[in-house]
Amino acid sequence: MEAYDNDSAQKKLLGYVMLSTDITDTPAYSGKPVVTLIGMDTQGKYVGVKVLKHSEPILLLGIPESALINFNNQYLGKSASDNIEVGPSRPDENILGVDAISGATVTVIAQNQVIQLSGQAVGRQTGIIEPTVRDPAKFITTEKKYTWDDLVKLGAVQRLLVKPEQVGLPRSTEPFIELWFGDLNHPDIGISLIGKNNFERLQSDLKEGENAFFIIKTAGQESFKGSGFVRGGIFDRVQVKQGADAFTFRDLDYLNLYGLDAENAPRYNEAGIFIIRSHAFSAAYPWRLAFLGNRIDRATGHRSFAVFESKYWLPEKMLEGGRPKVQEPDAPWVRVWKTQAVKIALFAFILVAVTIVYAFREKLTRLSTHKNKWPVNGFKYIFWAISMGWIGFVLMAQPSITQVLTWFHALLFQWTWSLFLSDPFIFLFWIFIIVTVFLFGRGLFCGWMCPFGSLQESIYKIAKAIGFKRFQTQLPQKWHDRLKWGKYIVFFFLLTVSLFSMGWAEKLSEVEPFKTTFLVGVMNRSWPYGLFVAVILGVSIFIERPYCKYICPLGASLAIPSTFRWFGLKRKQDCNSCKACAVGCGAQAIDVDGRIDHRECLHCLDCMILYTDTKGCPPLAKERKRRERDGLEITPIGKNGYFIPIHPAKFEDQISPKAKDGVDPRMPTDPTLPAHKRDVGLFKWVLLEVRDHLWPWSSEGWRSKRALQMAGIALAVAATVAWVMTAMGHLSSGAIIGWWFGWSVYEVLIRMSGRRYVKDGLWWHDNYRVAGWFDMMSYVAFKNLMIGAALFLVLQALGLFTP
Ligand code: SF4
Ligand code: SF4
Repeated sequence: MEAYDNDSAQKKLLGYVMLSTDITDTPAYSGKPVVTLIGMDTQGKYVGVKVLKHSEPILLLGIPESALINFNNQYLGKSASDNIEVGPSRPDENILGVDAISGATVTVIAQNQVIQLSGQAVGRQTGIIEPTVRDPAKFITTEKKYTWDDLVKLGAVQRLLVKPEQVGLPRSTEPFIELWFGDLNHPDIGISLIGKNNFERLQSDLKEGENAFFIIKTAGQESFKGSGFVRGGIFDRVQVKQGADAFTFRDLDYLNLYGLDAENAPRYNEAGIFIIRSHAFSAAYPWRLAFLGNRIDRATGHRSFAVFESKYWLPEKMLEGGRPKVQEPDAPWVRVWKTQAVKIALFAFILVAVTIVYAFREKLTRLSTHKNKWPVNGFKYIFWAISMGWIGFVLMAQPSITQVLTWFHALLFQWTWSLFLSDPFIFLFWIFIIVTVFLFGRGLFCGWMCPFGSLQESIYKIAKAIGFKRFQTQLPQKWHDRLKWGKYIVFFFLLTVSLFSMGWAEKLSEVEPFKTTFLVGVMNRSWPYGLFVAVILGVSIFIERPYCKYICPLGASLAIPSTFRWFGLKRKQDCNSCKACAVGCGAQAIDVDGRIDHRECLHCLDCMILYTDTKGCPPLAKERKRRERDGLEITPIGKNGYFIPIHPAKFEDQISPKAKDGVDPRMPTDPTLPAHKRDVGLFKWVLLEVRDHLWPWSSEGWRSKRALQMAGIALAVAATVAWVMTAMGHLSSGAIIGWWFGWSVYEVLIRMSGRRYVKDGLWWHDNYRVAGWFDMMSYVAFKNLMIGAALFLVLQALGLFTP
């Protein structure tokens, strides 16, 4: 839109005002564009940038709005023809830098792209910026006549399809609009499509540097010419784009297309030939046909501008010298990865390093004793320092429960790689978290790499070292065992809220002190947030990791799959009666029977140090003293945590009589083996595995809980119908998750009445154990999430479901 000075006697053009979404709908971090109003003077200098609407979560909740205003203000005075990048200026490469907003890198990279694309598009249209001059195409002709199918196969004719659901209309088999389009400049293509005479007539009408292409509409109720099109007007539904140049068409640029000559050409009900009258366009370079439409938000009824594009590039073999080299602008997430490549590599290296160090934990614990834990703690403290200082405060890459909720929704409904890739540190951190949770449990992340966890424990350790030890304590085990459920309640509450409103779930995620601590800073937030952080860190002086133990929803979400970590920590039979490890366990994760709760364990490795410590571990100390007294050989400690026996004695002899009669502490619950899994061959084993996961009912359960079984079958049928209805577009995603929850609750109940077992450790081993309620809930929730995700992927692959 042009802006005039109406006060002066003569109307004077002051500049141009443009709405970014009229030009590009480049999505930012939220997946939605930041709607920006941009003002530019007649010289092409930005004179005003104002954000009208955005959905960026971090700017809604954490970083103050003023940060975005300050970011936009950096463009004032800069020119639309400048090459602007987020980051430092590089004068030798002609690049002007603008400062990023810490913690919102993706948002500002997208915003930079939006401002530049908009400024350049209007600058070119108004002649402020010289158009790019591209060399005209030189064609290789063979005089071959192509059929329609040949042309489609060659890519010389392309399709632009818009489905009703893409514009917010109910799903239907009939497209919203289906267009086919292609070049009419190359003689072989032109003659094949419209016949020799028509092609020659068309070419004789074109002046030098002008290019023609055709469009036909083969399906849909919409018109590509626009229902309101009038003579002398502009076609407002189609545009051609090449690089940063956009070409619009007036009625004078339009010719009738009377028929298609190519064999097997489809039937169409609207057609036209358009002429591009600009030297900026070259048929040798790739271009896009854009269909401009409106998208209706089904929830709010709000209409927004939407562009649907399809690419076109003449086949290599039809161009003299082949296709020219073209530098396409990178997607915002690619730019983030490129600009931060060194930091990303270092970050990846640290994650690999901590995994390797932990994988060799037994070597380190054997080098340590209860009096000298440095071989373990030296590494741990280095990783704490890195996680707090560099990862937390510098990179601001503290993982958060909001990401878990996003993953949960994305797994079930819509997986958008670009969304996850747009924050490389968080993306890599989550790969690390997922892998290590399955290998070792949540403890490696929580105990060694979580910035906030490290901060809390560092405070505790420093306080201990400077004389606060006598004030430090633990909650009585009874109270700890009650309060530890708090974090699971917080997690399930947030998950439930997210099903109704992700926005509210994000607001409630303020229960995490991470944003205030690392992203925004205590000083930049209102006092209640600062007070919350201060209280947690203050309590951390006296109690080890209070937030991790009792509140953290992220820790809870990772604890659930930790139930099935592959490699647990070691225990020996004597642990059931010796309390030495339990007393020293800061996470209070060891129960009265000496069993470790891997959901609570934070992998401090203190108990693993004792496990092989011949002076610290009471049963080992006793045996050592006996051998010393009797002048026997002191053999090394074996993998089972006892001295390697002196021939011919057995290690069982070292187990104290009291421990022999107690429970086996090596598994979190008593071992079991389902009757149907005994002595079966591989094939049957696989079938039984599949049946075990998919079929919760059992003859035992059938006998004991018949009514429950019947209700379950009904529920299973209803759930299946719900899945199919969702696939057909008749059910909302909220309803399907409701079903998922309902079914999972039922499945827990039915399994606990018949198939009350879960596996421990490696899933391909038959290490079954009796399931506790929370074991079963963890198993069912996780398994059903995987099944749900797989089902949706299949439905999407079959084209039956569009999120
Ligand atoms: S429980 Fe939460 S705060 Fe504690 S270490 Fe784990 S993720 Fe970090
Ligand atoms: S002492 Fe406790 S927290 Fe540390 S590794 Fe052992 S069980 Fe885990």
